[in-house]
Amino acid sequence: MKKYGHPGLLKARSLSQEGEPLSPPLTRSSTFEYPSRESHNRAIEGSDRFYARNGHEIGRMVEARLAELEGAEGALLFSSGIAAIAAVLQGLSRSGTRLAVSRHSYGGTLALCAEILPRFGIHVALFDPFDAADLARALDAGPELVQVETPINPTLRLLDIESLAAQVHAKGAQLSVDATFIPPPFQRCLEKGADLVVHSATKFFGGHSDVLAGVVLGRDAELTRLEDWRRMTGPILDQDAAWLLNRSLETLELRFREQSARASDLARHLDQNRERLGIEALHYPGLEGHADHELARRTLHTYGSMLSFEPTGGLERTARVFDALGTFHRGPSLGGTESLVCLPAETSHATLSETETRSIGFGPGLLRLSIGLEPLETLIADLEAALDRT
Ligand code: PLP
Repeated sequence: MKKYGHPGLLKARSLSQEGEPLSPPLTRSSTFEYPSRESHNRAIEGSDRFYARNGHEIGRMVEARLAELEGAEGALLFSSGIAAIAAVLQGLSRSGTRLAVSRHSYGGTLALCAEILPRFGIHVALFDPFDAADLARALDAGPELVQVETPINPTLRLLDIESLAAQVHAKGAQLSVDATFIPPPFQRCLEKGADLVVHSATKFFGGHSDVLAGVVLGRDAELTRLEDWRRMTGPILDQDAAWLLNRSLETLELRFREQSARASDLARHLDQNRERLGIEALHYPGLEGHADHELARRTLHTYGSMLSFEPTGGLERTARVFDALGTFHRGPSLGGTESLVCLPAETSHATLSETETRSIGFGPGLLRLSIGLEPLETLIADLEAALDRT
């Protein structure tokens, strides 16, 4: 019997009683009690009403919804995106396992690979997915699992998951994709051949900057092992956070569509006024000039609500622009209904040296924007004023 959340669970939840609450009930209880030793021991065998670290009803419900959205056999929720990534990279490995991880990844993933995994005898080879020879070298080394990210934080480059999955599978390895920057149904990497998909649900799934969560989606074989990992090491999402995530899923599509439309218009505006505004590099997959625009057109249902740019004038001007913004909130993370600005070199990729960040396509002067739901004109006016004044 499947324990983690899977789409079949949603069907099982049809209305069974009159007067059921429309919004799912939330229990905060970590523990459930039983009238006898017999019923208590029956519940140990996988009940979601026993001990919440093993699994809980609201979590299963959210997992089932996410699995359906992503087109996965099932899903498992974790206490953060990085806990979900650690589960995949560490929880499916043992001492001696070889992993290949894209250099073009979130800084936290790279830090995990550099500082934690080697302590457990897990060998991580970093590779550049845009360099065919480097990719071939990484695959020839015989990794069990290849971990990539698309769209890539913060350069918004894209990977062709279909082609990558074929190459990875030809070597007998599995492909795991961090798809945080574009959630389903706008991007569905399992359909393209990925074996596992990971999201920081803190971002678009949560969508209101008030939940920390992560999810792994995939097939029974891996999820069963990951569920053992989660139960034994403890990084399950708590029930309050799962309840909030469930509520946020009601508006995921609407929010993402709207936020993406604003980002697209904003990117176009910046692109058309680059010279006047003093913008050196501008990254948004929806722009014709973007390195992976054709791939984006083919594979994404929308280009997303993240963009990044480098003002002319180096870090000094970037810092002035950052301080001059008024509508954009200065802070880390992304995917909420409020627009955010950050300097990836000092936040998401702070553990990397300047040489390392430059090798993956950005310098200290890059600003990353997460576009929320403020009126487009307000966002444009804020950026125009900040760029004009500096
Ligand atoms: N993956 C990507 C692409 C991210 O940008 C982040 C965080 O910014 C994470 C994973 C980690 O997610 P969390 O902060 O929920 O642990």
